[in-house]
Amino acid sequence: MQERSILVTGGAGYIGSHVVRQLGESGHRVVVLDNLSTGFKEAVIHGVLVVGDSGDPLLVSRLLREHNIETVMHFAAHTVVPESVALPLKYYGNNTCKTRNLLECCAEHGVEHFVFSSTAAVYGIPEGACAHEDTATRPINPYGTSKLMSEWMLRDLAAASTLRFVVLRYFNVAGSDPSCRIGQSTRNATLLIKVAAEVAAGRRASLAIFGTDFPTPDGTGIRDYIHVEDLADAHVKSLEYLVSGGESTTLNCGYGRGYSVREVIAAVEKAAGQRLEVREGPRRAGDPPVLVAEADRIRRVLGWQPRYDDLHTIVETSLRWERNRAY
Ligand code: UDP
Repeated sequence: MQERSILVTGGAGYIGSHVVRQLGESGHRVVVLDNLSTGFKEAVIHGVLVVGDSGDPLLVSRLLREHNIETVMHFAAHTVVPESVALPLKYYGNNTCKTRNLLECCAEHGVEHFVFSSTAAVYGIPEGACAHEDTATRPINPYGTSKLMSEWMLRDLAAASTLRFVVLRYFNVAGSDPSCRIGQSTRNATLLIKVAAEVAAGRRASLAIFGTDFPTPDGTGIRDYIHVEDLADAHVKSLEYLVSGGESTTLNCGYGRGYSVREVIAAVEKAAGQRLEVREGPRRAGDPPVLVAEADRIRRVLGWQPRYDDLHTIVETSLRWERNRAY
């Protein structure tokens, strides 16, 4: 029997590639399935890369069988909130329908563990200051809804089978591999720290603040920024948790502390040692004013301990990558 491997869909993307690297460093066998629509083959620095689609049942079935897959980590998705508002069916097709196909293959092949990349966007505008895992889910954009529908399919499949899962709800992910081997090279990026780093590195002329009239202390949106290395570690710990018999669970991935857009820009300016060209503009469709994690459960359930819980480190590693990008 072939030794067991982990199937990572979207493993050539920003977050997936950091997880693949850490899985490799922890001694796991990995098969990456990525259609390279937004990912980079150079980002896969461990395991085998198969170029194809996670919604293709024939291909997925073959990989599950040939590589004796026990665990699937599912990253492949579209992730741009404003694009999801403009093109909702693209998001339901790629994120929800393809996840359904993938889950059907997992059920047919007796996959035991599933780690799913979900998002804080499932909460929409939470009532309290922070979103707890039990806070009502009321997404305000199709991206969040497309991911929440996948969470529900996973929950229902797990109830009807022996599959167990960890759903990880990511808050705002930034930063890069401190050794600068891999990083975020997404084309036409829209994420704040990435865009600000591109401006600092001279790849973009300016940056817009989307809304200065939010009900927050400085009028700009507040988010909980988590370093990609800590997030990747949460995946490795989720795998260990499931393999050791842990029950299905849903966990927020954040640090439990929010920064405004202006605070983030100031941090990038400090790390870069230069002022950025910044314009103030209107709010962007689908953006909540504040989104911060209650992040105790992940520490308790997985024994996760963040190592990069510091805005300066986050922006500094983003900037280092942006200035020295390998792809
Ligand atoms: N934002 C901004 N300018 C940009 C990109 C983002 O002002 O060029 C703001 C956005 O409105 C939100 C925060 O930065 O308040 C984080 O947005 P991002 O797109 O990074 O992540 P999201 O929270 O939408 O997933």
